[in-house]
Amino acid sequence: MNKSYITTAIPYVNGKPHLGHAMDYLLADVLRRYMMMQGKEIRLQAGTDEHGSKIFKKAAESNVPVQDYVDENSQKFQDFIHSLDVEYTDFVRTTDADHERRCQEIWEKLSNHIYKDSYEGWYCEGCERYVTDKEHDENNGNCPDHQKPYVKLSEENYYLRISDFKDEIREAIENDKLKITPTFRKKEFLNLLADMPDVSISRPKEQVQWGVPVPGDDSQVMYVWIDALSNYITVLGYPDNDISDSWPATTQIIGKDILRFHAGIWPAILLGLGLELPRNILTHGFINVDGQKMSKSIGNVIAPEEIISKHGLTPFRYYFLRHVSTIDDGDFTWDKYEAAYNELANDLGNLVQRLATLCAKNQVEYAASEATPEWLADFENHMNNYEFNAAFDILWEQIQAINKDLEENKPWSLAKTDPKQAKLVLLKEIQWLLAINKYLAIFIPDTAKKIEEVFTAEQIAAPKTPLFPKN
Ligand SMILES: [Zn+2]
Repeated sequence: MNKSYITTAIPYVNGKPHLGHAMDYLLADVLRRYMMMQGKEIRLQAGTDEHGSKIFKKAAESNVPVQDYVDENSQKFQDFIHSLDVEYTDFVRTTDADHERRCQEIWEKLSNHIYKDSYEGWYCEGCERYVTDKEHDENNGNCPDHQKPYVKLSEENYYLRISDFKDEIREAIENDKLKITPTFRKKEFLNLLADMPDVSISRPKEQVQWGVPVPGDDSQVMYVWIDALSNYITVLGYPDNDISDSWPATTQIIGKDILRFHAGIWPAILLGLGLELPRNILTHGFINVDGQKMSKSIGNVIAPEEIISKHGLTPFRYYFLRHVSTIDDGDFTWDKYEAAYNELANDLGNLVQRLATLCAKNQVEYAASEATPEWLADFENHMNNYEFNAAFDILWEQIQAINKDLEENKPWSLAKTDPKQAKLVLLKEIQWLLAINKYLAIFIPDTAKKIEEVFTAEQIAAPKTPLFPKN
């Protein structure tokens, strides 16, 4: 394994990119940039999940061929990722011919752990899943998400025998060989694992027309699990290629709602294939709006592009990487967003403007400093624990400390009495800022680039327009 491999969850393309997807991509991007600073070679995967009857129905409703429908929607996600200034090295679509063929080969390799069985139970056609009798009774026979009655269905399916791997999965998670961050989610999952049933991995063809055919059985189509989860290795070329230069993944980034599948079903598939488990699963929370879950019925859904169009990308990245915890649920309000923009303008934008103006006036030239900042160990500690927002806070405290230093030393008045000392103060402050800026580039790369250009120019000059103008 000479490359570090970071993965993001592949969204189901029956909708548009939302803030939850943005979190996946931003966190992956922060990790990628941080690891690249350490000289590591990184692969970052992204992709789209494109099979299933929901997509088939949606395409039919909109009267477009299903392949056109998924082409168009997959492209929306690719454009969205680029709009966040996130770069991936590999993009996988589950309708790629290579992916489909590789899934079938993976299925065949797992055949010792797959069996056919019939099943009868309560099913929600909206959720496309069976619910337990308990769930059926608790909801009085109606799916709360779809306001539709559950129907009794019986069918033949193939099952993956999770029980073959449970002990090994438990042992790996308990001992952090497969480390789940945060710890409270690891504990939640370990409680679920004991009762985790074998998982149905196919559907009758009448039910799902749009999917990968089960090898050797024309009547069955693969259900989401093997098709979608395998993307993390098919994109590397498995099983055609030896993937040991990139697998196991260093970190798989997911939302909290899909931890069960990534910590339970996915490791079972990997162990069945004789592959190593990923080293880390980083689980992030959901974004609420005004403290409420976003939902179409409440009408409080805010699209990422709506926020980005307000002040551009940098404030968007700043807000969701600093004011939203890496691991817990976060909250968005327009008031909080404006407050965050003001922090950028007042703490950082103003500082750059003032400092550059003073340096120009006093003919200060930048000279690199080799000193290791005393806050760096703390910063790295947070980064290594996936507390990206706390790491970002450390940088911001330092930015505020430079502002304070400027107020205390007043180089503008010092220049009148002791110009040499004034220059020394200013040089110290720009070295300080550039030391922070090196790491700021992980979070807000565009701004960091501008700051570097201002202060490392042959002749320092204040930006013609402030970095964060106030309207
Ligand atoms: Zn439902």
